[in-house]
Amino acid sequence: MIVHMSRTATPEDQNRVLDRITKMGFKYELLGATGINVVGILGDLSQVPESNFADLCGVAKVMRISKGYKLVSREYSAKSKVIELGGGVMVGGSELTFMAGPCSLESVEQMMAIGAYVAPMGIKIIRGGAYKPRTSPYSFQGMGLEGLKLLATIREKYGLKIVTEATGLHHHIDKDGNKETRNVLENVIEYADIIQIGARNMKSYGFLQELGILTKDCKKPILLKRGDSSTLKDFLLAAEYIVANGNPNVILCLRGIRTFEEEKFQRYTPDIGAITVLKRESNLPVIFDPSHSAGYRANVAGTALAAVAAGADGLLIETHNDPTNALCDGDQSVTEDQLKDIKSKADAIWNLLK
Ligand code: PEP
Ligand code: MN
Repeated sequence: MIVHMSRTATPEDQNRVLDRITKMGFKYELLGATGINVVGILGDLSQVPESNFADLCGVAKVMRISKGYKLVSREYSAKSKVIELGGGVMVGGSELTFMAGPCSLESVEQMMAIGAYVAPMGIKIIRGGAYKPRTSPYSFQGMGLEGLKLLATIREKYGLKIVTEATGLHHHIDKDGNKETRNVLENVIEYADIIQIGARNMKSYGFLQELGILTKDCKKPILLKRGDSSTLKDFLLAAEYIVANGNPNVILCLRGIRTFEEEKFQRYTPDIGAITVLKRESNLPVIFDPSHSAGYRANVAGTALAAVAAGADGLLIETHNDPTNALCDGDQSVTEDQLKDIKSKADAIWNLLK
């Protein structure tokens, strides 16, 4: 529910509203831009009549959000969310955000080589999975905690922020059969600047709840990927799970969906049209992943540029120093030169549209 104060409302009028919200056991958020004050009330207000607030002095109108997704909706906040990562790095701000790196962390040499070409391009966020959700149990499962430590080294060396996936609340078992002491999410919370939640986990509602609760205090941004067969409504409701459980800093990431398209041409179908819908329906930043959507190196640039032209706030791109020998998603990983070309063209489109 949203309470709009009138232009002539005094600070005392607003405090009376806030007081009533608190006394009723709800939390609130101040949403207003300068001038008019807008108060968002958090929680299940389905049984609370609007008149509880509409009758108070200085209240202009009270709006109930009709959609299932509330806190992430445009109705709740007309202002687009900007996520600050520190050091002037932002998602959803005035610059196009680039996140680039390999699908999977493999070795110190690999990450040193990739960091060395990504950072000078002006890319501020490096990606790389330490925990990999593989379709086959026989595929490389990731470096685990050792990989997170490697990411922290790269962050220091190249001054980059890191985005890496948390695959669940289980304890990772390394290649020698040793179980890590803390669960995957706990480890990722400690090391990541942005916590990625993969397409396969978009509908793991228990995990999303725990994630919201466990990141309530640190409020580390969550990059939530769309499930490959999920509707946009389901995607927004998954984001709502995280926000409603305490972490408002969610970034939506489109990564292609399943259609009847044949995998030999495109791994998934890039859901470019969804960018416009999500920007209209939600107040969260929208990032596009052209690598998983397009599936092959040669397709990535076109898809990436289309996403920027369609209004995405940024791109998440897989790149590798030696893509043909990559342990994961080599076919869709672009080379250094391709990444540089995409970056300069994407920035040009962004600047033209701004
Ligand atoms: C990834 O980013 O490497 C990944 C596993 O993505 P998705 O969850 O979109 O398949
Ligand atoms: Mn990948």
